[in-house]
Amino acid sequence: MTSTAQDVSNPARDPDQYSDPSGETMKAVVWMGKNDVKVGVVSETEKGDILGHEFCGKVEAVGSAIKNLNIGDRVVASFQIACGQCMYCKKGHSSQCERTNESSTMASMFGGRTAGIFGYSHLTGGFAGGQAEYVRVPFGEVNLLPLPDDVSDEKGLYLSDVLCTSWHCVADTGVNKGDVVAIWGAGPIGQMCARFSLMHGASRVIIIDGGNGAWRLQFTKSKIPQVECVNFSDLPKGESVTSMLNKMVHGGPDVALECAAGEYAKSWAHYFQQLLGMETDTSELLNEMITSVKSFGRCGVTGVYVGYVNHFNIGSLMQRGVRLIGNGQAPVHKYWKDLLAQVREGKINPLEMVTHRGKLEDMEAIYDVFNKREEGMQKIFVQTRFSDPPSADSPQLSTFS
Ligand SMILES: [Zn+2]
Repeated sequence: MTSTAQDVSNPARDPDQYSDPSGETMKAVVWMGKNDVKVGVVSETEKGDILGHEFCGKVEAVGSAIKNLNIGDRVVASFQIACGQCMYCKKGHSSQCERTNESSTMASMFGGRTAGIFGYSHLTGGFAGGQAEYVRVPFGEVNLLPLPDDVSDEKGLYLSDVLCTSWHCVADTGVNKGDVVAIWGAGPIGQMCARFSLMHGASRVIIIDGGNGAWRLQFTKSKIPQVECVNFSDLPKGESVTSMLNKMVHGGPDVALECAAGEYAKSWAHYFQQLLGMETDTSELLNEMITSVKSFGRCGVTGVYVGYVNHFNIGSLMQRGVRLIGNGQAPVHKYWKDLLAQVREGKINPLEMVTHRGKLEDMEAIYDVFNKREEGMQKIFVQTRFSDPPSADSPQLSTFS
């Protein structure tokens, strides 16, 4: 049984039920097809889902059952929609909430469902996302965390997803004192996983990236100088990522973390299989992680996979006792209060990954820059006409159009 309305990805489809009685319209980022987003006035848009699952803002209105929030409160939203009451919510596994996602496709593909997720996919309930001037948050008392005055929006926002996802990846894979940790992907999640691995006692952190994303290696190193870098597109002749890591660490790293969202195919075999629809994801990064770690090493997967892979190296996994851990969608509610406290104490500075600030109206151009992994854009804070001016220590507004 679900207990919240599903597939409200575009409120304009049912204006009688969802539109503002005053007739006021709002701007939002909508998905129009692969690599195509538009900023539209939603009430005039006939097709297109509202994107965005990481957002914060001020409470504009509350439902009658909400006791812990007041109009005007500054809050950050969890990217997942949890009910707070079901078996998984009670276990602290809020990302697997049983009551907020009724997608039968996901249930038959995965044998179970995740929680509903804002602005993500109809597989996760089809909820309208937060790259918009207004957003409706079901179970607001569970899924909104008030931000204290000493935590700016720019610091609080990332409790929605990136901070919790990264912390969960490191904690769930079991990074311990003295471990050598290798991280695939130097984007915001990889960068934060590097920071959090060191906070969990890792003795060395090696980060792997390449191609269009290679500049992010130096960006991460500029923020976390202890990090060692491997550029996979610039390896010496005859060297692979696995052989390189084995040269750097006897036997290979203890732990591998997949933060690259294994969506890209490096080899032609996988490229054509994906093109022909023979696999939905590629096993290349997983195999690289499995063959790189020490025997009995651990591999955590937080990068997004949605289906099946071919050529999976089950032999190495079994023979060498490698533990492959799907970290799952991160249970935000399990971590966000503690992480907020660490942000307040200055132990975690989310701004170290934030490079830009842009306007909602410029999102088409911003997506374009971001998809090309253009030099220098690690993480962007997007403001709407309701946002406060930038805080002193965060990037100032850039224009993109
Ligand atoms: Zn629940």
